[in-house]
Amino acid sequence: MRPQGLCALLLCASAAAQTAPPLPSALDTITASRLRGHVSFLASDLLEGRDTPSRGLDIAAEYLASQFRAFDLEPLGDNGYFQTINWTIIESAPTGITLSLDGAPVDPKHFRVTAGANAIDAEGDIAEVKSSETAGRIVRLADANRATVMDALRILRNSPPQVVLIPDERDTLNASGAFQPRALVTPYDPPRGNYVYVLCTGPAAALAKSAKTAQFHMPAGTTTPARLWNVAALLRGSDPTLAATAVIVSAHYDHEGLRPNNPRDQVMNGANDDASGVAAMLETARALAALPQRPKRSILFLGLVGEEKGLLGSKHYARNPLWPLDKTVANLNLEMFGRTEEGEYTRAGQMTITGSGFSTVTDFVRQATLDLGGIYFINRQGNEEFFARSDNFPLAMAGIPAHSLTPGFSFQDYHAPGDEWPKLDYDNMQRATRIAALAALRLAENDTAPEWDLNDPTAKKFAERRKPAAAPPPASTQPNLPQ
Ligand SMILES: [Zn+2]
Repeated sequence: MRPQGLCALLLCASAAAQTAPPLPSALDTITASRLRGHVSFLASDLLEGRDTPSRGLDIAAEYLASQFRAFDLEPLGDNGYFQTINWTIIESAPTGITLSLDGAPVDPKHFRVTAGANAIDAEGDIAEVKSSETAGRIVRLADANRATVMDALRILRNSPPQVVLIPDERDTLNASGAFQPRALVTPYDPPRGNYVYVLCTGPAAALAKSAKTAQFHMPAGTTTPARLWNVAALLRGSDPTLAATAVIVSAHYDHEGLRPNNPRDQVMNGANDDASGVAAMLETARALAALPQRPKRSILFLGLVGEEKGLLGSKHYARNPLWPLDKTVANLNLEMFGRTEEGEYTRAGQMTITGSGFSTVTDFVRQATLDLGGIYFINRQGNEEFFARSDNFPLAMAGIPAHSLTPGFSFQDYHAPGDEWPKLDYDNMQRATRIAALAALRLAENDTAPEWDLNDPTAKKFAERRKPAAAPPPASTQPNLPQ
């Protein structure tokens, strides 16, 4: 943001602060200590980075449910507060995998295989991925660069090989969740195809680049069920009509799990991403549930799973909504509420939403920010890009005005083991959480539902995806219900 923009906003912030309507005292109960309490548990090493799926993730889910229970919110899942999701995990055989290049066996230390449940026996000349004859063969990529791999994905999908050799001297793909011997399979992933990637590291990388023939053997792996939970709780509205509609306040409670090969620190704690958003959602739920008068509309608090693996929990929710989508008027998704390092956009007191301006939800968040003495900013660079990168997006794709709220997009330990709870700025997080709570409350109190800006070409596309509210059946077909 250019400096003069900032002073203009500061000016409008102080003017707004003078005329702000009285704020609900419930907001004052949202405190730095309470937020710190939640984050320090969720991001503790004991939860081992809350990978999807993992035991640490389930413990976090139980924690959310226990908090919702403490706030006396209505469970909305199929199993109490839990929305049960049944996916599968495929895992390659732990032993018995062999690879030879030009007839010479490769030391198992120098190659790794990605997840595959089926047995594979392949041998023959190695084909280049660009050649047309890749179906059922052993093919190789030129290198392990992201662009090369993404390119190959597109090509191989149409004529799936049996084995894809990737020369990866420095084992760069080791950190990527996509290249692990164990993988979660969901209906929301691109089809995997029955082939595996063999990452040739160290001295095997050069061999994989130059070899003419290869022989690969892998025994059958395993497919096991993976039960996961979105966690859902309802604060039912008080208005006889508007209570049938809901505002969703969400955050993802998963993160990236463990990095066993990282000698210094194996746990990806995910304190700011996104234990902070979860804490902000919990404190919003607690504060609004304690209001003397419940808001007119209902508010659905949603802890989502699998965001780091491709927005899996929110995609699942959008396909299996617990509240009718045509009666869902808005979504505030809370992301990364706790870090305020100096940087282009990360300063104390600031708040923004992704897709700022796409819908009138923007006005609610901006006004709440100003009324709490904050600074509303627009990250012109990330405004549209980040809109598609978090859990608001599957709901936006269903036509619901859905945005992610954040005080800052970037922080030093993003997706690194150093994202730990003592580094968060809880005083700033207190204000950011009060802003989110106030915006949610006002959305739930407002008689008119937020709308997409039809003058904005991007927003218009989302508006067109909204299914019209189902019209009540004509009186004549109404069954004669006993009075
Ligand atoms: Zn996140």
